[in-house]
Amino acid sequence: MYQANEKRYEQMIYNRVGDSGLKLPAISLGLWHNFGSVDVWDNQRQIVQEAFNSGITHFDLANNYGPTPGSAEENFGRILATDLKPYRDELIISSKAGYLMWPGPYGEWGSRKSIIASCDQSLTRLGLDYVDIFYSHRPDPDTPLLETALALDSLVKAGKALYIGISNYNATQTQAILPIFKELKTPFIIHQPNYNLFDRWIEDGLTDVLAKEKKGAIVYSPLAQGLLTNRYLTGIPADSRAARSDTDSLKPEQVKEKLATIQQLNQLAETRGQSLAQMSIAWLLREKVVASVLIGASRVSQLQDNLKALDYLDFTPEELQQIDTILAQ
Ligand code: NDP
Repeated sequence: MYQANEKRYEQMIYNRVGDSGLKLPAISLGLWHNFGSVDVWDNQRQIVQEAFNSGITHFDLANNYGPTPGSAEENFGRILATDLKPYRDELIISSKAGYLMWPGPYGEWGSRKSIIASCDQSLTRLGLDYVDIFYSHRPDPDTPLLETALALDSLVKAGKALYIGISNYNATQTQAILPIFKELKTPFIIHQPNYNLFDRWIEDGLTDVLAKEKKGAIVYSPLAQGLLTNRYLTGIPADSRAARSDTDSLKPEQVKEKLATIQQLNQLAETRGQSLAQMSIAWLLREKVVASVLIGASRVSQLQDNLKALDYLDFTPEELQQIDTILAQ
């Protein structure tokens, strides 16, 4: 029987999401990669246990996470059943609909049909009655925003989701859906965009919208899928994301293209007494709207490394300038 670490709440920082009542851990765990049917079950279970033992209360999923699509939710459902069910009220579990999940016209995007069916499927795979946050995974150019917003709102009214989020919506799209949620009184509290040292698009409008509207952000791929760590400093390891054949989300060419910058950032992290992963996470948490940094991990040691980011979050103006200079080269 799994017994959670009694000291799990002593080290973690919890940040309020916008002006909502919800707090999220400064570091959350995502199950996009490494939790599929192709991955080792014991390793998955150890990572989730270590996360919860360390105060990570938030686990992020989506209908299509795997591979195979759906298997990450099934595996997390298994971990819930074996280990975490007694702690359900200490957990924030999220899922999403929007990317391709099943064949035909209803298996993706943001129609009412697709969102409600997808959420029902996710709840079945997870073995849950409700998720804590449900997201529209991406904006749908062909469905009226009102339909997508109403579908998300229905999930809350039906007791299938407590809070609503949107992901991958740009500043204009976010600004457009906000008044609809406001009018419906939907508990829309959070945006999930990608954000890391290599991809700072949210600074160009989205953070202002979120700050003005008092919404929070949980930022994904904070380590640029592993580029912003020591993973690729001396080559591409055979078991790394860039080398794996079951995903093409990170390509060896991207590693080559960024290597010189990664090495310089790594040197700066060393002068701060941190790993590059820790510095990259700390840098994201300097941004006020960021309530949580949503990491991935393929092993327990990576999770432990990343959690130590919270030991040193401060940056001098000179260090911030140095980072900008390195990135501008
Ligand atoms: P990261 O940028 O944190 O990349 C995680 C990968 O980096 C790991 O799998 C591992 O790679 C490597 N890594 C992590 N920590 C270390 C470390 N300390 N030292 C060395 N290598 C390390 O995030 P992800 O891209 O995995 O995304 C995180 C989560 O964000 C997802 O699980 C998902 O929940 C969410 N997400 C949401 C999206 C959306 O559209 N809303 C899209 C993408 C992600 P390796 O496997 O090679 O060991």
